[in-house]
Amino acid sequence: MRYVDENKIVRMLAGRFGARNSSVIQGIGDDAAVVHPAGSREYWVITTDMLLEDVDFRKTWMTPAQLGHKSLAVNLSDLAAMGAEPRYFTVAIALPEDIEPKEWILRFYRGLSALARRHNAVLIGGDLSRSPLGVQISITALGETFDRRIIRRAGGRPGDLLYVTGTLGKAAAGLALLQQGSTKGRNSREQSALRSHRTPEPRCEVGAWLARHRFASCMVDLSDGLSMDLPRLCEASGTGAEISGPLLPLFPASRAWGCDPLRHAVHGGEDFELLFAVPVRRAALLEASYPARYPRITRIGRLCRGSGVNWTPHPGARMERLDPSGFDHFRRQVVTATFPALRHPG
Ligand SMILES: [Mg+2]
Repeated sequence: MRYVDENKIVRMLAGRFGARNSSVIQGIGDDAAVVHPAGSREYWVITTDMLLEDVDFRKTWMTPAQLGHKSLAVNLSDLAAMGAEPRYFTVAIALPEDIEPKEWILRFYRGLSALARRHNAVLIGGDLSRSPLGVQISITALGETFDRRIIRRAGGRPGDLLYVTGTLGKAAAGLALLQQGSTKGRNSREQSALRSHRTPEPRCEVGAWLARHRFASCMVDLSDGLSMDLPRLCEASGTGAEISGPLLPLFPASRAWGCDPLRHAVHGGEDFELLFAVPVRRAALLEASYPARYPRITRIGRLCRGSGVNWTPHPGARMERLDPSGFDHFRRQVVTATFPALRHPG
């Protein structure tokens, strides 16, 4: 049995079917597409994401309201990773027969709308259907640039310093609790980890602020984990990277329920934090002017010549290769060990 690599499929699609049109500023292969409609002052940024029951979530682990929040959050996070501000979105939902649609949809939209309001994103349409295979959600979100400033995955240079927002590995620590059967959380730290997993906060303000002030040379959001998403940033920028384990902003509380905070920070997915690079000459100004009301940022390493990611796991440890083993949708699943439909026979 061979597993299909998501990166490879995206590259194949971009090569065979990707648009070559002067109004497309950024096509397939970044966090979102960027287009310049004729006559528009600004660029429009477009992204789409699916959430599937038993692949991306379990119904018993999340309320419809939390699922509504998360479905929109993953899309807004991709807009944030381009430096765009959210504007509009559409929602397509397919529900199985055993769900009473009216009540479920009302609760789903309550969670989704609360997040949308906070980010000035406006619902403008969608579709509703029946599903033979559990709950399926697909959201498309549109964002707008400021002064046509976007931050791509490409654009980083050797020497640029790498930063992340927030805390890494907290969503994975929340998922671990759910897998252990703890859905409520016994204290504030467990509840905080569960919140990170169920209702992640997209870093829209930070992304837009970085674009507006031209601090970041490249950026990606951490959906599949640092060990998967950093190589994507490096490949697009044509660089390698070196990061330091001791510098990573960990969530050490998860040790209490048997997690390895460093492992989760590196390989755990769904943190939806931003990972970006800043030219050395701009780093001091970034750190001095970064708004205190935003989630903290932490310098974790730098881009370098060559390719691939190396890291020092512990203080004083030798630099070693960081192998990707984050969450690849086509290789492994977050909530189920196997899902035969996604396996490629051969
Ligand atoms: Mg992304």
